[in-house]
Amino acid sequence: MPRLLSISDPNAITDAVRLLAAGRLVAIPTETVYGLGADACSGEGVAAIFAAKGRPRFNPLIAHVSSLAMAEEHAVFDPVSRGLAERFWPGPLTLVLPAREGSDIHPLVRAGLPTLALRMPHGAARDVIQALGRPVAAPSANRSGKVSPTSAAHVARSLGEAVDLVLDAGSAGVGLESTILRVGEDRIHLLRPGGLDVAEIEAASGLPVVAVGEGSAIEAPGQLRSHYAPDGAVRLGARSVEPGEWLVRFGEEAVAGEEKAAGISQLSAARDLREAAANLFAILTELDRPDIARIAVMPVPDHGLGMAINDRLSRAAAPRHDMHDADAFIREED
Ligand code: AMP
Ligand code: MG
Repeated sequence: MPRLLSISDPNAITDAVRLLAAGRLVAIPTETVYGLGADACSGEGVAAIFAAKGRPRFNPLIAHVSSLAMAEEHAVFDPVSRGLAERFWPGPLTLVLPAREGSDIHPLVRAGLPTLALRMPHGAARDVIQALGRPVAAPSANRSGKVSPTSAAHVARSLGEAVDLVLDAGSAGVGLESTILRVGEDRIHLLRPGGLDVAEIEAASGLPVVAVGEGSAIEAPGQLRSHYAPDGAVRLGARSVEPGEWLVRFGEEAVAGEEKAAGISQLSAARDLREAAANLFAILTELDRPDIARIAVMPVPDHGLGMAINDRLSRAAAPRHDMHDADAFIREED
């Protein structure tokens, strides 16, 4: 069982920060549900979230901030989004914004998307983030497919040893997740209804809020595609390299033809799935270049985090015209 510490314990915040800074997981009470937190800038920490949840895919995570200034370091705010943040933060409102170039939030948090979801929570969660000085990535602290936890004991039962510390603040008041929005030109897209009432958002912004699906899509498929897959064709399960292909390695074993490869990237020399998960999106982004026409990826074992890695790789390798899967990918929840 993980260690439980009451948020009224004088060591609660410092212990949580020490673990997060070391790339470990801490379950943190928020006004919605208990979150499974990691340092959003740590690839090891963020990969550990997916491993602990036992999730078969990568979905983008909400990065939690302690101030608007911290949020602006990592995303580009339009005036409407900034107004909503000023009015409703801290609170159950998540804004999806263009990620800021140079942000050191790990790419696995965005699951390779050009956008970043940000929220400022109340109370102990905000204190932890402020003390850490960096955003905390946190989905609900349950194993994938199980209900969102509203008590520390519930978290401990669901995640066990996968989480290093659970901060206990009694039962989460609301039990409702945050409302997720993306501000558009003349309307606001509702990506997920939640704890903040849509009527309040309309009143504050003067813009209509439309559920995604009712109005226009949130992202043009063309925009998304270039972030879901590199420019070049992707070949999976490669045990040899054709001349001119770019090789993506998993492990150090010799691969026939590798001396003729256009270049080589390494997911994990040690064949560590957590390391590979942390490297995956950075590698796919690096290889999204017009001069790289063909990419060969060595086989990755299909268990644990390897399932999520293979899911993403198979999307990168899929024919490029069908965007339905990509849509399901960003809107799926756990
Ligand atoms: P949870 O962490 O359980 O509250 O779920 C996070 C939700 O935020 C999921 O529904 C994600 O799909 C959504 N989300 C996170 N980042 C983005 C993004 N960049 N674009 C759209 N949706 C996002
Ligand atoms: Mg959840």
